[in-house]
Amino acid sequence: MRYLSDFRDAAACAALAERIRRLAHGAGEMQFMEFCGGHTHAIARHGLRSLLPENVRLVSGPGCPVCVSSQGDVDRAVALAGRDGVTVVTFGDMMQVPGSEGSLQEARALGADVRVVYSPADALRLAVDCPGRQVVFLGVGFETTAPAVAATVLQAQRQGITNYSVLSLHKLTPPAMRAVLDAGEVRLDGVIGPGHVSTVIGAGAWRFLPEEHGLGCAVAGFEPADLLLAVAELVRMVVEGRPEVANCYRRSVSDGGNSRALAVMEQAFQVVDADWRGLGVVPASGLHFRPELADLDAGARLALPKLESREPAGCRCGEVLRGVLEPSQCPLFGSACTPESPVGPCMVSTEGACSAHYLLREAG
Ligand code: SF4
Repeated sequence: MRYLSDFRDAAACAALAERIRRLAHGAGEMQFMEFCGGHTHAIARHGLRSLLPENVRLVSGPGCPVCVSSQGDVDRAVALAGRDGVTVVTFGDMMQVPGSEGSLQEARALGADVRVVYSPADALRLAVDCPGRQVVFLGVGFETTAPAVAATVLQAQRQGITNYSVLSLHKLTPPAMRAVLDAGEVRLDGVIGPGHVSTVIGAGAWRFLPEEHGLGCAVAGFEPADLLLAVAELVRMVVEGRPEVANCYRRSVSDGGNSRALAVMEQAFQVVDADWRGLGVVPASGLHFRPELADLDAGARLALPKLESREPAGCRCGEVLRGVLEPSQCPLFGSACTPESPVGPCMVSTEGACSAHYLLREAG
């Protein structure tokens, strides 16, 4: 297949679904985790679950960067927005995430200067355009976004832009996958590896899954045929008893990843422990700036105090992110919690499992 339309072709998808059915026939129950929130939404949007045989089940994982930002991280962002002379800049998904004392959107309604941008470069431009304000970008994202944020920070340092800083909440995906497996709460037979993240870190970054956990991994793109091919590969690995890493997204992902993006990240960041919603503190899973870039670290520059955080009452996002609870099993799903009135981040974000399942339900 060469063109995007090929990856959405109904006949090709039907053939892949048939291949999965044939491979899985009589092979017992199988459960695969799609780590990535983008995959969760693609699976829901294209109704892929309905194409799978009954013994092949997909479960969502912690691959939504907004959803896994801890309540403390959200609260720190809201606290920053309340500071005089500070402009907080973020991607749109963070605006509605409820913090202990409200969301960024509510802070803006109360007079805080909070702006939405589409790229970290826009945030840096805003700092240049507003020299009288401290412009703080919320660095939320996985390995996919971290290189672009690192590039703005290095550029700000080079150009002597002193009113730009970043609250780095960046997180690394392989340690989170390890944490899910080490917790042992969910039985998995394989993992659909994240596509965008793997363009940066490479398919080879997932080799620990077969080598240390005996699980197959299929790195996938975001079209229906990409995902069905990945599931077929995972079923094949289970049936043959030969777990490996299959790169089913070769048009974007190499084995070693993007060396330029990795070099920029390496130049700006050091690996630290990070607090994940649902997983707690995961060792070596976050990115903070190197000491020589401390001036561009918003947390250090603006001396944020320690805050007391409260999770939203009744919200089960943590269990959804660990794959132990289906979104629809949360008592608030679709009643107290909807995309229009979200209680937890998994219903807010475009990559959240709860919003994906809600949209699928609405589509009938
Ligand atoms: S339905 Fe709402 S409250 Fe329940 S887990 Fe999902 S986001 Fe959290």
